[in-house]
Amino acid sequence: MSARALAGPPVDALELMLTLRCDLACTYCLRHDPGEEMGEGLAARALDLLFAAPAARKDLTFTGGEPLLRLARVRALADEARARARRSGTRLRLNVLTNGAALTAAALDFLEADDVRVVITAGGEPDGHDAYRRSADGRGSWARVQKGLAALVARLPPSRLLVTVAVHPERAHRLRADVRYLLGRGARNFNLCAVFGVPWTARQAESLAREYAGVVGDAVAAARGGEPFVLQALGAGLKRWTGTTPHYDYSDAHGTHCPLTYRLVAWPDGALSLNPFRFGARAAEFSVGRLDSGFKAEFRACAADGSACPACRRRVVVLDRAYGAAYMEAAGTDAEGFRRSWQANVLLCDGAVNRAAAERIWARAQREPALRRLVEACDSWSDIVG
Ligand code: SF4
Ligand code: SF4
Repeated sequence: MSARALAGPPVDALELMLTLRCDLACTYCLRHDPGEEMGEGLAARALDLLFAAPAARKDLTFTGGEPLLRLARVRALADEARARARRSGTRLRLNVLTNGAALTAAALDFLEADDVRVVITAGGEPDGHDAYRRSADGRGSWARVQKGLAALVARLPPSRLLVTVAVHPERAHRLRADVRYLLGRGARNFNLCAVFGVPWTARQAESLAREYAGVVGDAVAAARGGEPFVLQALGAGLKRWTGTTPHYDYSDAHGTHCPLTYRLVAWPDGALSLNPFRFGARAAEFSVGRLDSGFKAEFRACAADGSACPACRRRVVVLDRAYGAAYMEAAGTDAEGFRRSWQANVLLCDGAVNRAAAERIWARAQREPALRRLVEACDSWSDIVG
């Protein structure tokens, strides 16, 4: 890639979609596309992009589809990224997102390496999982996924395993039971996500808020019982109070997060985007550039002193709004239901609820040593991309 093509934000975190193939066929999947694979040339350019600017830390995430269907490619890219990181004195963290349905012995050996962190997706209790996370023949996948989860729990320290709970609106009323079930299977770090592209009713949204408050209560009770577990969004809130710098500090010259450096996704066709989903023919509109040609001109003015940030940030906001509008458009007649699905994610991922809960826990932790354990557990768990 030419120097001009690499001009633009210093990319410290990149999500690489090597394939959109998947061995599951979840009912709500927005990504699965059996035809799309990233070629070797584009994958090599992705590493060029990631290592174009020096940084103390870099973050490479393999996602899909199911990235472990391309284990040999994942391993080769990980080796190459490690070599580049060593040469440039960069601390590299590799993340692998998997559905956990086909964790072979070779895959587990690769995932056990100590610079790899694993994010496995589950639905919670077996009936809730199997209702939506299915194999192509329509049968539930929990029987396979539970083996994968058990192997990961046995082989990885808790700090390297994150369980994403995909919350379907029809399961919102069981969220607390689902998290408890996964705790019983050895999970200790959770990322709760409302599934995208499925409308929520007002009642389901209310259930979610109630259940989530219950899960936060369970996290406090578990800490008091000496066995804390981490809710990622709550943990992010607590980090603000502890003053611990998250693993990735993506602040730009204005001390604010730059989305182009921490939310960047490379699609198999080489499109660079800030969004984990795309809308068919409009995909190019929502991209910020391409692996083969670099960032779009409007995102190439990045300057170390932050002078270009205000204008650049405005462009990102415009892009985000257009993307949000496309999401609502996709809802057809149920825009309100889609709006609730968006809000459900805000609640679970980044909401005022988490900030308020973190504030309360932090205040109590000053006088209650048991609660400090929860703060410490959250502290030891860094942000993970994806
Ligand atoms: S595991 Fe992910 S990519 Fe595969 S079908 Fe399910 S939602 Fe889609
Ligand atoms: S917001 Fe600022 S740091 Fe981020 S890409 Fe734009 S100009 Fe660069």
